[in-house]
Amino acid sequence: MTQYLNSFPGGLKLPGRKRRSTATPIRKMSLSHTLVLPLQQHIGEVATPCVKVDNKVLKGQKIASSNGHISANLHAPSSGTIKEISEHPMLHQSNSSFPSITIETDGQDKWIDRRITYDFTHLSPNDLCHLISDAGIVGLGGAGFPSFIKINSGIHHYVETLIINGAECEPYITCDDVIMRERAQSIIDGIEIMQRALNVNNCVIAIEDNKPEAILSMRIALNLNQRIRDTKIVVIPNLYPTGSEKQLIQVVTGKEIPGSGLPIHIGIVLHNITTAYAIGRAIKHSEPLISRIVTVTGTDLDNSGNFETLLGTPIHELLRFCGTKHQVGAPLIQGGPMMGYNLADNNLPITKTANCILVGVENTAKDTNPLPCIRCGDCATVCPIKLLPQQLYWYSRSRNMDKMQEYSLFNCIECGCCSYVCPSKIPLVQYFRLAKTETTNKKRESQKANIARIRHDNRLERQEYERVARKEKQRKHKITLATRKANSRSEN
Ligand code: SF4
Ligand code: SF4
Repeated sequence: MTQYLNSFPGGLKLPGRKRRSTATPIRKMSLSHTLVLPLQQHIGEVATPCVKVDNKVLKGQKIASSNGHISANLHAPSSGTIKEISEHPMLHQSNSSFPSITIETDGQDKWIDRRITYDFTHLSPNDLCHLISDAGIVGLGGAGFPSFIKINSGIHHYVETLIINGAECEPYITCDDVIMRERAQSIIDGIEIMQRALNVNNCVIAIEDNKPEAILSMRIALNLNQRIRDTKIVVIPNLYPTGSEKQLIQVVTGKEIPGSGLPIHIGIVLHNITTAYAIGRAIKHSEPLISRIVTVTGTDLDNSGNFETLLGTPIHELLRFCGTKHQVGAPLIQGGPMMGYNLADNNLPITKTANCILVGVENTAKDTNPLPCIRCGDCATVCPIKLLPQQLYWYSRSRNMDKMQEYSLFNCIECGCCSYVCPSKIPLVQYFRLAKTETTNKKRESQKANIARIRHDNRLERQEYERVARKEKQRKHKITLATRKANSRSEN
């Protein structure tokens, strides 16, 4: 029976447009001749290459090591030769270049020796955390936060509930839906591993009511697992943006996380369903994160669907594989039409967080000759964070950063609901993204200036100290000389 829980303010009922990519099972994308792997496909520090140009590598071999506390390892998605370590354009909002490793594949797709651990029940939470970290797993729902850090929180904090996010609320995207339909057993393995590592039994798998096949498949896999305990599937209403972290927690538990708070502050750890799958494969089958399921869909395709794609595969090959009619300059988005970003070209490589390539569909917040704001208030009605988008809009136009912060700009989750309903077609979310970037850059600049000023002041202070010390030394030296002279005179 359908069971609904709590709700959050605002939100939108959007047309799903998901059927076009769920008609066929997951297909395997063919092996590309060249794979380009940016060293930062995650939140945190850039990974450090541990291979050199001309090195031979095997599939699954580590090619870059995590660097610092928040970072992630990177592995070769296929066997071949390292051809280049240099800057390369990357799939990123900024459409800029990042240091990357290029592999020329040899067509053999030969794995490194792997230690398959079918029984992981003897592994300690620490062992499991290390293995998840070694496998380079990051949040695959789009955030890219290194997963072992959240898993590690079980060692340092009391975790009351693990929530698995199976709410894929953006239109068009179906990679989570199909992975639940087809690979539920590995997802359940991943959930059991996370429960052990976090030392928590209570687990909720939240799936939207528009995914009946996924719900059924997950229920069967859950029933087949004899060890897993206190884990339940809850069906939640299909309302955008339920899949966002704070909104899902509110729906499932009724608890609200304050502005800058984290789920762990209220005893919750939340992971995406595909991350659970990747963890299951990493521990049981010793497979590092080298591929992901990508939804390729939209209006200019013969063959929409979900494709198991090696990281580093160029988007244009994926599009060709789907029989695209996409023309250069036509809309191409990474992600969905609400939160996705436009891509400058189709030669960019697939990364760990690339869940969807949307072809021929415009971003809902596209800047198309907006009209003046008529102060209708519709944008505030749909905001799931209870912000006042029209006020933020006015302050962003006047570049009043202080006021924008006063109106909680940084609590905006960039869901795009406000832009979607605005009758004047004002691309509100674009203004907010820009304002956030500008504010962050300004803060960074001012921090840099402060550090430079402190360094300069310290230098002046040190120079002054040295000058005084030198003078004092000279004075003492003079006194010593004068004393010696006086002494020698008195002796004579
Ligand atoms: S929805 Fe658009 S027109 Fe209405 S108040 Fe908000 S910004 Fe103004
Ligand atoms: S984009 Fe930001 S301001 Fe607009 S509805 Fe979403 S959270 Fe609210």
